[in-house]
Amino acid sequence: MKPIIAANWKMNFTIDESLNLIDEIIKKSPSNEAELIFFPNYISLRSVQQKLFDSAYKVGSQNVHHDESGAFTGEVSASMLSVLNLDYVIIGHSERRQYFYESDDQVNQKIKRALSVNIKPVVCIGETIDQRKSGKTIEVLTRQLNKAFEEIESFNANMILVAYEPVWAIGTGVSADKNQVLEAHALIKQTLASIFSENIPILYGGSVNASNAFELINLNNVDGFLIGGASLKSESFCQIIENVLVENN
Ligand code: PEP
Repeated sequence: MKPIIAANWKMNFTIDESLNLIDEIIKKSPSNEAELIFFPNYISLRSVQQKLFDSAYKVGSQNVHHDESGAFTGEVSASMLSVLNLDYVIIGHSERRQYFYESDDQVNQKIKRALSVNIKPVVCIGETIDQRKSGKTIEVLTRQLNKAFEEIESFNANMILVAYEPVWAIGTGVSADKNQVLEAHALIKQTLASIFSENIPILYGGSVNASNAFELINLNNVDGFLIGGASLKSESFCQIIENVLVENN
Protein backbone atom coordinates (compact mmCIF):
# COMPACT_ATOMS: atom_id res chain seq x y z
CA MET A 1 0.00 0.00 0.00
CA LYS A 2 1.25 3.49 -0.84
CA PRO A 3 1.89 5.72 2.16
CA ILE A 4 -0.90 8.26 2.58
CA ILE A 5 0.11 11.86 3.16
CA ALA A 6 -2.75 14.24 3.87
CA ALA A 7 -2.52 18.02 4.09
CA ASN A 8 -5.03 19.66 6.43
CA TRP A 9 -4.85 23.35 5.51
CA LYS A 10 -7.41 24.33 8.15
CA MET A 11 -8.65 27.95 7.90
CA ASN A 12 -5.83 29.16 5.67
CA PHE A 13 -5.45 30.40 2.08
CA THR A 14 -7.56 32.19 -0.49
CA ILE A 15 -8.49 30.27 -3.64
CA ASP A 16 -5.44 31.65 -5.48
CA GLU A 17 -3.11 30.81 -2.61
CA SER A 18 -4.47 27.27 -2.50
CA LEU A 19 -3.95 26.82 -6.24
CA ASN A 20 -0.43 28.27 -6.07
CA LEU A 21 0.53 25.93 -3.26
CA ILE A 22 -0.77 22.96 -5.26
CA ASP A 23 1.34 24.11 -8.22
CA GLU A 24 4.46 24.34 -6.09
CA ILE A 25 3.89 20.93 -4.54
CA ILE A 26 3.26 19.23 -7.88
CA LYS A 27 6.43 20.81 -9.30
CA LYS A 28 8.55 19.70 -6.36
CA SER A 29 6.95 16.29 -5.72
CA PRO A 30 5.45 15.00 -8.95
CA SER A 31 5.75 11.43 -7.66
CA ASN A 32 2.67 9.30 -7.32
CA GLU A 33 4.41 6.84 -5.02
CA ALA A 34 2.47 8.34 -2.13
CA GLU A 35 -1.26 8.96 -1.99
CA LEU A 36 -1.47 12.72 -1.48
CA ILE A 37 -4.71 14.20 -0.19
CA PHE A 38 -5.41 17.93 0.08
CA PHE A 39 -7.98 19.33 2.49
CA PRO A 40 -8.55 23.01 1.55
CA ASN A 41 -11.21 25.24 3.11
CA TYR A 42 -14.75 25.14 1.69
CA ILE A 43 -14.21 28.23 -0.46
CA SER A 44 -11.18 26.75 -2.22
CA LEU A 45 -12.57 23.24 -2.48
CA ARG A 46 -14.17 23.44 -5.90
CA SER A 47 -11.20 25.14 -7.57
CA VAL A 48 -8.71 22.69 -6.06
CA GLN A 49 -10.91 19.76 -7.05
CA GLN A 50 -11.21 21.05 -10.63
CA LYS A 51 -7.46 21.59 -10.84
CA LEU A 52 -6.70 18.06 -9.67
CA PHE A 53 -9.57 16.36 -11.48
CA ASP A 54 -8.45 13.15 -13.19
CA SER A 55 -5.04 13.27 -11.49
CA ALA A 56 -3.63 10.89 -8.88
CA TYR A 57 -3.97 13.60 -6.22
CA LYS A 58 -7.01 13.40 -3.97
CA VAL A 59 -9.13 16.16 -2.47
CA GLY A 60 -11.29 16.25 0.62
CA SER A 61 -13.37 18.49 2.83
CA GLN A 62 -12.32 19.38 6.38
CA ASN A 63 -15.81 18.82 7.73
CA VAL A 64 -19.41 17.88 6.96
CA HIS A 65 -22.61 18.45 8.91
CA HIS A 66 -24.26 15.48 10.60
CA ASP A 67 -27.76 16.26 9.32
CA GLU A 68 -29.07 15.88 5.80
CA SER A 69 -30.36 19.46 5.39
CA GLY A 70 -32.24 22.15 7.23
CA ALA A 71 -31.86 25.20 9.47
CA PHE A 72 -28.15 24.96 10.25
CA THR A 73 -26.78 28.36 9.27
CA GLY A 74 -23.26 28.19 7.91
CA GLU A 75 -23.14 24.41 7.56
CA VAL A 76 -22.56 22.14 4.55
CA SER A 77 -24.18 18.75 4.01
CA ALA A 78 -22.77 15.50 2.63
CA SER A 79 -24.98 15.65 -0.45
CA MET A 80 -23.69 19.17 -1.23
CA LEU A 81 -20.11 17.87 -0.98
CA SER A 82 -20.91 14.84 -3.11
CA VAL A 83 -21.61 17.11 -6.11
CA LEU A 84 -17.93 18.08 -6.04
CA ASN A 85 -16.81 14.47 -6.47
CA LEU A 86 -14.61 14.63 -3.42
CA ASP A 87 -12.62 11.62 -2.31
CA TYR A 88 -12.40 12.23 1.44
CA VAL A 89 -13.75 14.18 4.40
CA ILE A 90 -12.08 14.73 7.78
CA ILE A 91 -14.44 13.83 10.59
CA GLY A 92 -13.98 14.41 14.32
CA HIS A 93 -10.83 16.51 14.14
CA SER A 94 -9.92 17.53 17.69
CA GLU A 95 -10.37 21.21 16.81
CA ARG A 96 -13.97 20.43 15.86
CA ARG A 97 -14.47 18.43 19.04
CA GLN A 98 -12.80 21.11 21.18
CA TYR A 99 -14.04 24.40 19.70
CA PHE A 100 -17.34 23.29 18.19
CA TYR A 101 -18.26 20.76 20.85
CA GLU A 102 -18.70 17.87 18.44
CA SER A 103 -19.70 14.73 20.27
CA ASP A 104 -18.86 11.09 19.56
CA ASP A 105 -22.48 10.69 18.54
CA GLN A 106 -22.23 13.47 15.93
CA VAL A 107 -18.98 11.96 14.66
CA ASN A 108 -20.85 8.70 14.15
CA GLN A 109 -23.66 10.46 12.26
CA LYS A 110 -21.19 12.36 10.10
CA ILE A 111 -19.43 9.15 9.13
CA LYS A 112 -22.77 7.67 8.09
CA ARG A 113 -23.58 10.77 6.02
CA ALA A 114 -20.21 10.66 4.26
CA LEU A 115 -20.49 6.95 3.49
CA SER A 116 -24.01 7.40 2.15
CA VAL A 117 -22.62 9.65 -0.62
CA ASN A 118 -19.46 7.60 -1.19
CA ILE A 119 -17.02 10.04 0.39
CA LYS A 120 -14.32 8.35 2.46
CA PRO A 121 -14.20 9.51 6.08
CA VAL A 122 -10.84 10.19 7.71
CA VAL A 123 -11.90 9.68 11.29
CA CYS A 124 -9.75 11.50 13.86
CA ILE A 125 -9.36 10.27 17.40
CA GLY A 126 -6.97 11.22 20.17
CA GLU A 127 -6.60 11.88 23.86
CA THR A 128 -6.00 15.21 25.61
CA ILE A 129 -2.95 15.73 27.80
CA ASP A 130 -5.05 15.41 30.95
CA GLN A 131 -6.51 12.12 29.76
CA ARG A 132 -3.01 10.81 28.99
CA LYS A 133 -1.63 11.97 32.34
CA SER A 134 -4.45 10.29 34.21
CA GLY A 135 -3.89 6.98 32.41
CA LYS A 136 -7.07 7.19 30.34
CA THR A 137 -5.57 7.05 26.83
CA ILE A 138 -6.63 3.48 26.08
CA GLU A 139 -10.13 4.04 27.46
CA VAL A 140 -10.58 7.26 25.43
CA LEU A 141 -9.33 5.83 22.14
CA THR A 142 -11.39 2.68 22.52
CA ARG A 143 -14.52 4.67 23.32
CA GLN A 144 -14.01 7.09 20.42
CA LEU A 145 -13.53 4.22 17.97
CA ASN A 146 -16.42 2.10 19.17
CA LYS A 147 -18.78 5.05 19.19
CA ALA A 148 -17.58 6.42 15.83
CA PHE A 149 -18.27 3.12 14.09
CA GLU A 150 -21.46 2.14 15.89
CA GLU A 151 -23.96 0.57 13.47
CA ILE A 152 -21.64 0.98 10.50
CA GLU A 153 -21.71 -2.15 8.43
CA SER A 154 -18.43 -3.91 7.74
CA PHE A 155 -18.78 -3.69 3.94
CA ASN A 156 -17.87 0.00 4.41
CA ALA A 157 -14.47 -0.87 5.86
CA ASN A 158 -12.54 -0.28 2.62
CA MET A 159 -13.86 3.31 2.59
CA ILE A 160 -12.53 4.23 6.01
CA LEU A 161 -9.29 5.79 7.29
CA VAL A 162 -8.49 6.49 10.91
CA ALA A 163 -6.08 9.19 12.10
CA TYR A 164 -4.54 8.97 15.56
CA GLU A 165 -4.01 12.57 16.59
CA PRO A 166 -3.13 13.10 20.23
CA VAL A 167 -4.64 16.50 21.02
CA TRP A 168 -1.51 17.62 22.91
CA ALA A 169 0.64 16.99 19.82
CA ILE A 170 -1.43 19.01 17.36
CA GLY A 171 0.21 22.27 16.41
CA THR A 172 2.51 22.20 19.44
CA GLY A 173 5.76 21.15 17.78
CA VAL A 174 5.85 18.17 20.16
CA SER A 175 5.07 14.95 18.35
CA ALA A 176 4.12 11.77 20.17
CA ASP A 177 7.24 9.68 20.62
CA LYS A 178 7.94 6.34 19.00
CA ASN A 179 6.58 4.25 21.87
CA GLN A 180 3.45 6.34 22.27
CA VAL A 181 2.68 6.00 18.56
CA LEU A 182 3.43 2.28 18.55
CA GLU A 183 1.20 1.67 21.56
CA ALA A 184 -1.72 3.77 20.30
CA HIS A 185 -1.61 2.40 16.75
CA ALA A 186 -1.47 -1.21 17.99
CA LEU A 187 -4.52 -0.58 20.15
CA ILE A 188 -6.36 1.12 17.27
CA LYS A 189 -5.47 -1.73 14.92
CA GLN A 190 -6.76 -4.29 17.40
CA THR A 191 -9.96 -2.36 18.12
CA LEU A 192 -10.67 -1.82 14.42
CA ALA A 193 -10.10 -5.52 13.79
CA SER A 194 -12.78 -6.31 16.34
CA ILE A 195 -15.22 -3.96 14.59
CA PHE A 196 -14.37 -4.64 10.93
CA SER A 197 -12.70 -7.63 9.35
CA GLU A 198 -10.72 -5.58 6.83
CA ASN A 199 -7.44 -3.77 7.28
CA ILE A 200 -8.10 -0.07 7.83
CA PRO A 201 -5.22 2.35 7.24
CA ILE A 202 -4.14 4.31 10.31
CA LEU A 203 -2.54 7.71 9.91
CA TYR A 204 -0.57 9.52 12.58
CA GLY A 205 -1.07 13.28 13.04
CA GLY A 206 0.46 15.73 15.48
CA SER A 207 3.51 17.90 14.74
CA VAL A 208 4.80 15.72 11.93
CA ASN A 209 7.73 17.47 10.26
CA ALA A 210 10.65 16.77 7.97
CA SER A 211 12.82 15.62 10.89
CA ASN A 212 10.47 13.10 12.49
CA ALA A 213 8.66 11.81 9.37
CA PHE A 214 11.42 9.34 8.58
CA GLU A 215 11.22 7.61 11.95
CA LEU A 216 7.43 7.75 12.30
CA ILE A 217 6.55 6.31 8.89
CA ASN A 218 8.67 3.28 9.60
CA LEU A 219 6.75 2.30 12.74
CA ASN A 220 4.43 -0.67 12.78
CA ASN A 221 0.82 0.18 11.86
CA VAL A 222 1.65 3.70 10.66
CA ASP A 223 0.25 3.94 7.13
CA GLY A 224 0.71 7.66 6.61
CA PHE A 225 0.28 11.10 8.10
CA LEU A 226 -2.32 13.81 8.57
CA ILE A 227 -0.32 17.04 8.56
CA GLY A 228 -1.37 20.53 9.61
CA GLY A 229 1.32 23.18 10.08
CA ALA A 230 3.99 21.55 7.95
CA SER A 231 1.57 21.21 5.02
CA LEU A 232 1.18 24.97 4.69
CA LYS A 233 4.49 25.45 2.89
CA SER A 234 5.60 23.47 -0.14
CA GLU A 235 9.18 23.19 1.19
CA SER A 236 8.27 21.47 4.46
CA PHE A 237 5.48 19.38 2.94
CA CYS A 238 7.61 18.13 0.06
CA GLN A 239 10.51 17.40 2.39
CA ILE A 240 8.19 15.17 4.43
CA ILE A 241 7.05 13.38 1.26
CA GLU A 242 10.67 12.85 0.25
CA ASN A 243 11.61 11.44 3.64
CA VAL A 244 8.60 9.14 3.70
CA LEU A 245 9.40 7.76 0.27
CA VAL A 246 13.07 7.19 1.10
CA GLU A 247 11.90 5.00 3.93
CA ASN A 248 9.44 3.11 1.75
CA ASN A 249 11.76 2.39 -1.18
C1 PEP B 1 -3.80 18.48 12.40
O1 PEP B 1 -4.34 19.54 12.60
O2 PEP B 1 -4.45 17.51 11.99
C2 PEP B 1 -2.38 18.37 12.67
C3 PEP B 1 -1.86 17.18 12.75
O3 PEP B 1 -1.70 19.55 12.85
P1 PEP B 1 -0.12 19.71 13.06
O4 PEP B 1 0.56 18.88 11.99
O5 PEP B 1 0.13 21.17 12.89
O6 PEP B 1 0.21 19.22 14.43
